[in-house]
Amino acid sequence: MGLKYRVYLQQERGKKIYGCLNCQSHLALDDMIVSKEFNGFGGPTYLFQKVVNIDEACKQEERIMTTGTHTIATISCTRCLTCLGWKYVKANGIGQKHKEGKYILEKTLLKIMQ
Ligand SMILES: [Zn+2]
Repeated sequence: MGLKYRVYLQQERGKKIYGCLNCQSHLALDDMIVSKEFNGFGGPTYLFQKVVNIDEACKQEERIMTTGTHTIATISCTRCLTCLGWKYVKANGIGQKHKEGKYILEKTLLKIMQ
């Protein structure tokens, strides 16, 4: 077990940083967003290529979505432990493979810093 440390993202001119609304830890940059038009379970979500300062749940679960059965692992902020969204571990639907290894963050739990 290594020590937990926080990653500080370098903000580039005109680009946004997405952080945890609760504790302001940096989570992702504009560049890491794959899609802003993504529907989660009831609320608006963003799909990210990569997210930092999160813990991945060791427990995985299957969720049946309109696009097929997906195996997901919930992700939470390393600092304040707020559950922020999930990671797609396996996506079984046709045309869904691209989601594997990507992250979903709930828009309402994000603080956009610009
Ligand atoms: Zn946090």
